[in-house]
Amino acid sequence: MNEKRCSQQVRVKGLGWPTYQTCARSGVVLEDGKWWCKQHAPSAVKARRDKARTKDDAEWAKRRKENLAVKYHDRLVSALLNLAEWVARNSVHGLQPDECDEALLCLKDIAKEAP
Ligand SMILES: [Zn+2]
Repeated sequence: MNEKRCSQQVRVKGLGWPTYQTCARSGVVLEDGKWWCKQHAPSAVKARRDKARTKDDAEWAKRRKENLAVKYHDRLVSALLNLAEWVARNSVHGLQPDECDEALLCLKDIAKEAP
C-alpha cells in the first residue's frame, strides 16, 4: 500500500448503499500525521468552509439590512399617514405651534432610526 495516499474516506457514487473507500489521489500534504491530497487536506477543507461561512455571513447581513430598511420604510409611511390624518382632523380648530412641534419631534425620532 502506498503510504503517501490521501487518507480521506470518500463515498463511492453510483451504489445504492453508502459505500466508502480511501481517496484515490496521492497524498501531497502532511497534516495531523497523515497524508492528504490538496482537496482533502484539513487546512484546505477548513479554508473552504471559512470562505463559504464568510459569504453566508455577508449575505445574511445584506438581507438583515434590507429587512430593516423595509420595516423602517413601513413605519415611516405609517407615521406620515397618522400625521396627515391628525393635521386634517385638527386643522379645522387651528393648530397650535406646540402641537406641531410635538408631531415634528415624533418624526425626528423615527428619522434617527434610519438604517
Ligand atoms: Zn483526497
